[in-house]
Amino acid sequence: MIVDCHIHLYGEPDAVAASVERLLPYADRLDIAKLIVSLGHALCPKPDAARIATDTEYVVRAVECAPDRLEGLVYASPNHVDMSLKLMERHIASGPLKGVKLWICRKCSDPACDPIAAYAGELGVPILVHTWMKSTGNSPGESTSYDLLELATRHPQTAFVMAHSGGDWERGLRTVADQTNICADICGGDPEAGQTEYGVQWLGAERVLYGSDATGRSLASQLGKVIGASISDEDRRLVLGENAVRVFGL
Ligand SMILES: [Zn+2]
Repeated sequence: MIVDCHIHLYGEPDAVAASVERLLPYADRLDIAKLIVSLGHALCPKPDAARIATDTEYVVRAVECAPDRLEGLVYASPNHVDMSLKLMERHIASGPLKGVKLWICRKCSDPACDPIAAYAGELGVPILVHTWMKSTGNSPGESTSYDLLELATRHPQTAFVMAHSGGDWERGLRTVADQTNICADICGGDPEAGQTEYGVQWLGAERVLYGSDATGRSLASQLGKVIGASISDEDRRLVLGENAVRVFGL
């Protein structure tokens, strides 16, 4: 079973069903059984408290459109901790969502993220954290793999997924190799050869997850990183879906 752990839906907030209908035929064509969606209907880097609530509602409605295919994450923000915890209570503890997404409003090493990380650990759900290291410099609040290492070290009971393998994936994967509560997804970026193999080599196959970052990237180009990787079939099954089933408790 293939699980894509990193999907964003776009479209008008009142047209969530149409967004889901647009996406699923592409997943069908590639045998992707489950898609884990996050961040709402349009990218909002510095959302206010109302916006993380409406974006999370959007994800809940998307999951309700295709509950056998879609899973979703709460959009949490360290700038709005009270609302983030409330959304986690409402949609994870008492609802269908499977984890938390942290994006770029503030670095994840910031202590403001601690209550969110602690509560995720209590709920037993992972946090998918955007990480990147750009040669042109990161955005002011954009986390690197070093930021995630700090956060994960402070919260050993919480599971984290390092999105994009840190962007500069050779450095990103090596940075978190010894921190076993961090997994990495291989999504986003160009479909370069060697990324999946490198993750398996440094983290072990149980800590590498397929994701695409669709619709910013295609499902197929990112899936190719795993399908074309020189790894064993057993490891490929872990990366394609078995790890996501375990980590996100699907
Ligand atoms: Zn993304």
